[in-house]
Amino acid sequence: QAKRQGRNTWQWFKGCQTAHSRHSVMMRHELNTALLEEQLELHYQPQVDATNGGIRSVEALVRWRHPTRGMISPGEFIPLAEHTGQIIPLGRWILYQACRDIAELYANTGRRLPVAVNISSLQFRRDGFFEEVEHALACSGLPPALLELEVTESVLLDGAEPVVELMEKLNMMGISVALDDFGTGFSSLSYLCDLPARKLKLDRSFVQKAQQDHRIAAIVEGVITMAHHMEMVVVAEGVETREEQQDMVRRQCDLLQGFLFSRPIPLGDLMTLPVQLPADD
Ligand code: C2E
Ligand code: MG
Ligand code: MG
Ligand code: MG
Repeated sequence: QAKRQGRNTWQWFKGCQTAHSRHSVMMRHELNTALLEEQLELHYQPQVDATNGGIRSVEALVRWRHPTRGMISPGEFIPLAEHTGQIIPLGRWILYQACRDIAELYANTGRRLPVAVNISSLQFRRDGFFEEVEHALACSGLPPALLELEVTESVLLDGAEPVVELMEKLNMMGISVALDDFGTGFSSLSYLCDLPARKLKLDRSFVQKAQQDHRIAAIVEGVITMAHHMEMVVVAEGVETREEQQDMVRRQCDLLQGFLFSRPIPLGDLMTLPVQLPADD
């Protein structure tokens, strides 16, 4: 009886695996088509000044407009692209597109709007990434000061040294680095001391829980104090309510990002938001 059940379970498991891998083979193929046929687009979400609500910068977030399946969120295809290695051409397209968009905005309106681009650890640690960034800036004409790269703590997993070196090189060029989803990874705090990152993005899970859970609040306070001592700018991610906004302002966050201010939207739509863009200076 047990044996038969075991076999059934195995059969079921095997069936799922096949369905699963068939799905990924298909997605892999479709992702290639997406790249070739320009089914990908970038939306932008503002980061606002905690003190006055003015837009300080935007984060580029990729979307896949699938011809039959509609919009597919990056949470679905970025992990797959990382698995297949397609993140390399995909990430390159995203970097170039974001630079082009923001350079064009600058050229057309004179607005200097900094853009943050998410970079996968694989892409960031790959040989030639620095040159890729230089090339993206040169091709688009985007001033380096308007580019920020977001990486997560997982970039440190295979050793911090090359990462620190690269970040220093980027900083020297005027490009800043932000630590994304801070607090959800497993890196040691001593590593973080050595990282020349200018911005720390407090993960949404902390922003959400800080009001109800005094232990989470203690972590948040500690992280913000630490970041400020290291002269980092702190961003609260995923602010959805007035209460979260007030809480994060009270706790001295510098910038806020979340649906309360705006969802990620096409660049053109940003211009119509009832919040002010940074003035040209
Ligand atoms: P992330 O970089 O931490 O981006 C923030 C995510 O939170 C975005 O989801 C954004 O739409 C969402 N978000 C913003 N405000 C709120 C809020 O108030 N409430 C809630 N519930 N969510 C909010 P999205 O666009 O689905 O992206 C998910 C993740 O996929 C990103 O997390 C990032 O890790 C990855 N990703 C997105 N675009 C790119 C990209 O261009 N390149 C790479 N490598 N990864 C990307
Ligand atoms: Mg991000
Ligand atoms: Mg994040
Ligand atoms: Mg997050």
